[in-house]
Order: sequence, then C-alpha cells, then structure tokens
Amino acid sequence: MNIHEYQGKEVLREFGVKVPNGHVAYTVDEAVQAAEKLGTAVTVVKAQIHAGGRGKAGGVKVAKSLEEVRTYAEEILGKTLVTHQTGPEGKEVKRLLIEEGCDIQKEYYVGVVLDRATSRVVMMASEEGGTEIEEVAEKTPEKIFKEVIDPVVGLAPYQARRLAFNINIPNELISKAVGFMTGLYQAFVEKDCSIAEINPLVTTGDGEVLALDAKLNFDDNALYRQKAITELRDLDEEDEKEIEASKYDLSYVALDGNIGCMVNGAGLAMSTMDIIKYFGGEPANFLDVGGGATAEKVTEAFKIILSDPNVKGIFVNIFGGIMKCDVIAQGVVEATKQVGLEIPLVVRLEGTNVDLGKEILNESGLNITSADSMADGAQKIVSMVK
Ligand code: ADP
Ligand code: MG
Repeated sequence: MNIHEYQGKEVLREFGVKVPNGHVAYTVDEAVQAAEKLGTAVTVVKAQIHAGGRGKAGGVKVAKSLEEVRTYAEEILGKTLVTHQTGPEGKEVKRLLIEEGCDIQKEYYVGVVLDRATSRVVMMASEEGGTEIEEVAEKTPEKIFKEVIDPVVGLAPYQARRLAFNINIPNELISKAVGFMTGLYQAFVEKDCSIAEINPLVTTGDGEVLALDAKLNFDDNALYRQKAITELRDLDEEDEKEIEASKYDLSYVALDGNIGCMVNGAGLAMSTMDIIKYFGGEPANFLDVGGGATAEKVTEAFKIILSDPNVKGIFVNIFGGIMKCDVIAQGVVEATKQVGLEIPLVVRLEGTNVDLGKEILNESGLNITSADSMADGAQKIVSMVK
C-alpha cells in the first residue's frame, strides 16, 4: 500500500525525522488558508498523487505571496499530472500539500528497501539527490552507497556515520544526519514498510537536515497490524479493478495488454502471462483466484476482467487441485450470464473434476473454445484477439 507525501511526513515526524511544516488542502481556499497559517515568506504548493516526478511535470511550485499560492493551487488542483511514474494516462490531483519553503543548500538521496539477495534491510544514500535515483544507479553507480542492516542490531551508529561521510554531508551536520537515518530506519521497521525513500533529503541554510519529499510504501501482508496506516489509504489513487479484487481476496494486478487471464495459483498465473507473451500476445492482468475459491469468487473475478475495456479475449487456465474444475466452470457460466460475453473465451481445464467442468461449459451454450494444453490455449487466444 502506498500513501501520500504529506501522510508519509506525518509518520516520519513520529520517529523524530525532521520535515518542513505543512498542511494538506483539498480546495483552493483551503490552500490559501494553509499558507496564511504557515505565515512563511516562501510557500511551496505540491500536488499529492501516488507518484514521483511531480516537480518536472509542473506539480511542485514555489509561491512568494498568498496570491501566488492561490494561482498555483488553481492551476494544480484538478489537473492531470503525467510523470514517468503515472503512465501515459496520468493522475488527477485532488489534494495539495502547502508547505513552508526551505532554503536548500544541497539535495541528497536516502532510501531504505528490503534487499532480496541478502534478505536484509538495506539503507542506500547518495549525494546525487533530487534526480531520479534509477538514473544515478545506471550512469554513476559508484555514487550510491549501501549499508546492509543486521535485523538484531538495527542500523548501527557507525553505519549511519559512514553513509553520511560517504555522501559528503558537511561535518557539522553529520550527527543530525545520523539521527535522521536512525529515525528513518525505525519508521521503516515499526511501520512495516517495503520502501521508505527520501528524495531529496536536504541540508538547509540554518543548519537543518530535512526530508523534503517522502515516499513510504507498506507491506500489504502486514496491514492487519497497522491500523493507523490502513486508515491513510486513498482509494482514489488505486486501480478500481484492484480495489474490487481486494474485496474478494483475489490477487489481481492490472496490466496494459488485451488478453484477460483467470488462473489458479500464482506460479501458474505467472507462467500463463509468460506463455501469452511467448506467442506474441499481451496479458491484460495477473490474476490468481486462489486455492479455495467459490463460484461466487470466480464470478467476481470474471466480472473484474470484463470491466477492463482493453480486454479483447479471455484465457482461463485452471489446474484443479484444491480448486475444482466444476466450481470454475460454474463461476464462468454464472458471470457470463450476469454480464454477457461478446469476446473470445479459451478455457483450459485440467485436474480434479475436469470432466464435470467441461460438461458444465459444454451445456451452457456459451461460445467457448477449449484447449488441450497451456501452449495450445495461449496460441488459440492470441490468434483470436489478433
Ligand atoms: P517529486 O520527487 O515528485 O518531483 P519533490 O517533493 O521531490 O517531488 O519536489 C521536487 C523538488 O522541488 C525538490 O527536489 C526540491 O528541489 C523542490 N522542493 C520540494 N519541496 C520543497 C520545499 N518545501 N521547499 C523548497 N523546495 C522544495
Ligand atoms: Mg522527490
């Protein structure tokens, strides 16, 4: 799960990580009031969307008066921002962060992630802040420093100091930077983050070390014990189909192809996408209906797939183990009765109750193409949508 920058900054504040003062605003008037309340000479108007790269896309503006705050708030609220992280369709801005302007001396990067190779939390830092870290990693990887953190010890002070020295934080600010990193690591662990990225971290004219941006992502599997974080969820920022899927406990991820996939088991779902690609098609989604799916759940899954206007054909690929083929078949029939089906449907069933499943499909009167194998099914659906 993802949250907004202003929410991330609130979380960081709890852990002693310094952030500029600021207020969220949903309307232009609220934005002006927030700026009045701050009372600073310079105010920054920042679009709040779940994507980075806002600065370059015109979503971060520096205002020198209340009139300018009003002008920028009018300009940005309701605007669809297209950044390298939003995809070409962009994201509509519905909230603003009105923040005090900072006297930036230098911008740095600090990020905390889970490194799958070492199975450890890693803190990364660079003096190339403010820019895309992916670009730094590609062009000048020697400018990124990493500390692998022992989960028992936590981020050791010497590690934080080493990072701060490596990225050339001025000597007099090293201890503040160490405090910053320690708080950031604590927030990451205690709030079950999957990413905590500060880009930029800045040093200021009055000798502070601040987080000017904050991107916190959380491990969905830990949300049951993070009530306060769960309340920060903003459904406006999420894919409607994914929200629907989460209601039914379906593992669904929207993609941009045109072949809808309904599969059981994450591994089979991954290889189904692979084989569609292999035969020249593009999957419209990842979907694992799970082991214990009911006909109702399958119906919902099917409806979600069909609600995607890009979908031009569907490939159902089920290996019935715990999940029985007849249940899948019932779900498919039920769903198509409810929402209609005008696009090609290829079904490959194998395993428990396969004959019963095929019988249900055959007797349904639906126009279904059956497949003998995964490869056969993938080839059929790819050629049918072309
Ligand atoms: P994004 O990463 O989405 O572009 P940031 O929050 O990193 O958005 O802002 C982009 C840039 O805008 C920063 O690198 C910084 O130079 C400037 N900026 C952001 N917030 C402030 C602020 N409060 N005061 C001064 N400059 C800011
Ligand atoms: Mg940023």
